[in-house]
Amino acid sequence: MQNKQNTPSSEKKQPKRACIVGAGLVGSLWAILLAKRGYQVDVFERRPDMRKAGAIGGRSINLALSDRGWRALEKAGIADKIRQVGIPMYGRMMHSTTGELTPQPYGKEGQAIYSVSRGGLNQELVEIAESFKDVNFYFDQPCWGLNLKTANPIFVNNGESKEHDYPLVFGADGAFSAIRSSLQRRPRFNYSQDYLDHGYKELTIPAGENGEHLLEKNALHIWPRGQFMLIALPNLDGSFTCTLFLPFEGEESFENLKTDKQILAFFQKYFGDAVPLMPTLLEDFKENPTSTLVTIRCSPWDYNDQVLMLGDASHAIVPFYGQGMNSGFEDCSLLDDFVEKHGEDWTTTLHEFNASRIKDANAIAALAVRNFIEMCDRVGDPAFLLRKKIAAHLHKKYPDHFIPLYSMVTFSHIPYSVAHQEGKKQDALFEKILALEGIFDNWQENKHVDKIFLEMYSE
Ligand SMILES: Cc1cc2nc3c(=O)[nH]c(=O)nc-3n(C[C@H](O)[C@H](O)[C@H](O)COP(=O)(O)OP(=O)(O)OC[C@H]3O[C@@H](n4cnc5c(N)ncnc54)[C@H](O)[C@@H]3O)c2cc1C
Repeated sequence: MQNKQNTPSSEKKQPKRACIVGAGLVGSLWAILLAKRGYQVDVFERRPDMRKAGAIGGRSINLALSDRGWRALEKAGIADKIRQVGIPMYGRMMHSTTGELTPQPYGKEGQAIYSVSRGGLNQELVEIAESFKDVNFYFDQPCWGLNLKTANPIFVNNGESKEHDYPLVFGADGAFSAIRSSLQRRPRFNYSQDYLDHGYKELTIPAGENGEHLLEKNALHIWPRGQFMLIALPNLDGSFTCTLFLPFEGEESFENLKTDKQILAFFQKYFGDAVPLMPTLLEDFKENPTSTLVTIRCSPWDYNDQVLMLGDASHAIVPFYGQGMNSGFEDCSLLDDFVEKHGEDWTTTLHEFNASRIKDANAIAALAVRNFIEMCDRVGDPAFLLRKKIAAHLHKKYPDHFIPLYSMVTFSHIPYSVAHQEGKKQDALFEKILALEGIFDNWQENKHVDKIFLEMYSE
């Protein structure tokens, strides 16, 4: 990739200029939206240009994209292009220990989340951002942090660090953000990080002999096993990327899977139907890293009317609702809405974004941890399956008054904090409904189901 100019715009006097730290999913999307509003944008990325290196980076190979992400991609004008390379997943496909399959739709008929390639999406976003004449990418240039006196970023290039002067700085540098590390040195900056006791490891189910998918293509496969699970998302080339989520320590844990014998016995015992589809299981297991899962919360996200963090830099969450990237993309579209409203009054935009968005990030962080328990432990539970059926019935009958929690998070733009509160109300509703006598046998005829619903929802 050729830079269109050799000098970052920090050294030029332009009225509408911004710097983005991090050319990941969120940083490159935000570059497009800013460029569309006429900004000159410099994006600095720690890693080499992924298009040249052909590397995807250390994390998951595919991601589930849903409505919040789509809205942002639509704003950027690239939703149609990405949809063509996404694989719709209309529901979960549960695998029991004996290999029985139970499909569970995610939403209404036709509603789907999409499996997309992380590397492919990121490259596409960089490519489109770079097609704007005023957007430049600077790869291999890590940000060291901010000079807190000037609120300017400092970059390291060929071993030399240099401060760059920008009126606007966006920290989209991921969960271990250098921008956030600098802001943490300020008084009254709130910060917490919580690691799960579980880690994850990626594995592969390759395509069949003729490039076909060896499991149902249009589903997200789950092998729920109580304290741990395996999941698989389809790729365009016929393969599936599997992820094993397992405790680091304990009886069934990564620490107890050291030898080939232990690994094979564990997979045979819990994921017997997947093993014949995983010819490179042992190599993958031993070669691929075991990674951690962290939730990061912080506030405020803005500084000095000039700096704002976006995406994982300000709110990293565990992946069990498939909302990390989607929420980062939603940051971009909401921020763009504020820019539309306030024009170049960035003081108001940054303050309003910060004031309105943090509670939503905290809500999806909590929901994501909750969904981990649901995916591992409850998706095979008869009470959970019945709840899903009754929820679908209520949604169909009272669409303006009842939307299942999963649909609110995944297929709507309802603020996460509202969905979270509504989810608590739904828990209380189903606690009452599932306690009805004979409900497992007669829920369709049981008049109390609607009665309890109407009583609670007409309050
Ligand atoms: C196993 C797993 C599965 C997931 N599945 C899903 C899913 O299905 N759906 C979903 O929505 N989300 C999912 N996520 C979450 C998603 O990956 C993240 O939320 C998303 O990548 C955040 O994008 P980002 O641009 O904020 O950060 P990142 O993708 O981390 O990008 C940050 C960029 O900044 C660069 N950078 C870092 N430090 C510096 C520095 N000092 N200077 C310059 N550049 C720097 C990095 O190299 C990187 O390019 C998953 C996450 C994991 C771990």
